[in-house]
Amino acid sequence: MRKRILVTGGAGFIGSHLCYRLLQEGNEVICLDNFFTGNKENIVSLMKNPYFEVVRHDISLPYFVEVDEIYNLACPASPIHYQYDPVQTIKASIMGSINVLGIAKRTGAKVLQASTSEVYGDPQVHPQVESYWGNVNPIGLRSCYDEGKRCAETLFMDYSRQEGVRVKIIRIFNTYGPNMHPKDGRVVSNFIVQALQGKEITIYGSGRQTRSFQYVTDLIEGMVRMMNRTEDDFTGPVNIGNPGEFTMLELAEKILQLTGSKSKIVFMPLPSDDPTQRKPDISLAKEKLDWQPLVALEDGLRETIDYFRRIL
Ligand code: NAD
Ligand code: UDP
Repeated sequence: MRKRILVTGGAGFIGSHLCYRLLQEGNEVICLDNFFTGNKENIVSLMKNPYFEVVRHDISLPYFVEVDEIYNLACPASPIHYQYDPVQTIKASIMGSINVLGIAKRTGAKVLQASTSEVYGDPQVHPQVESYWGNVNPIGLRSCYDEGKRCAETLFMDYSRQEGVRVKIIRIFNTYGPNMHPKDGRVVSNFIVQALQGKEITIYGSGRQTRSFQYVTDLIEGMVRMMNRTEDDFTGPVNIGNPGEFTMLELAEKILQLTGSKSKIVFMPLPSDDPTQRKPDISLAKEKLDWQPLVALEDGLRETIDYFRRIL
């Protein structure tokens, strides 16, 4: 049956892949975006589809629509962009959540929150399990994002307990792939663009900090499985990420090798509160969603490098 689905932040990197997938499955998709970091190029090929609708709107302001499902992705996600206007960032998470939860309460729609591994902050438990409460600075430069996302989780759980809204929370770990903006500022896109343009590869700090990188198609599969799971009213939160763990030095070397670039590595100051390690425990996603990532880092990087070669 054709569902009508709202995707907030639908013109962004992840949102555009999700809109594509949901349309492929025969649904009607409303893509809501204020185009702060989103890009029309990401969705232009979808606009031919009569079941695809684009709405320019800021989710921190109320919005009324009748839908069956909502995926809430509207929020700047890269440190340089979410720190550009921190007040707007926290409003997108908190007012945005209240607004989508209001739609869900009124219409009975299911609503999924794109939360983040940042809720674990600079984690002292490794790998990170969902039951870990995290180690987050509430007053630092990353707080507008981390605490906004943590409060959004609180709102989702309270609307579920108090109002009976059908909620889903996924904690997304670092994701990369085609449709990332060349000026996104996150590490994978930065290193690939620098390598392809022969510019210096900028490693922040010693480069020994770790991240776990997931290819975007794996994430989309996990997201859709979470939304579609109805047994035992599973709300999450559930980690969706690839447990392969790499230092930023290893990532830089891999990208240099795959692009054949002669770019030099340079070391720059480490941004404040930059987490030292990150790796998801995905046992819960395996158990509840029968999900695990399928794309190895090298394969995903090759696809992403091809994409950047095409657009640069
Ligand atoms: P992105 O910046 O490409 O996408 C975010 C989208 O939201 C953009 O299209 C932007 O224009 C839109 N947006 C921002 N503020 C808005 C507002 N107030 N109203 C309406 N639209 C607004 O980033 P992304 O990587 O695609 O991230 C999508 C979501 O996934 C975000 O919520 C992010 O926090 C979450 N997430 C992403 C990652 C990752 O590694 N990519 C990891 C964890 C969580
Ligand atoms: N990073 C880096 N060079 C860059 C961009 C990022 O060394 O040009 C580092 C950053 O300091 C962090 C890691 O890469 O340790 C991941 O950064 P990103 O912004 O992609 O994601 P997040 O820190 O939110 O996980």
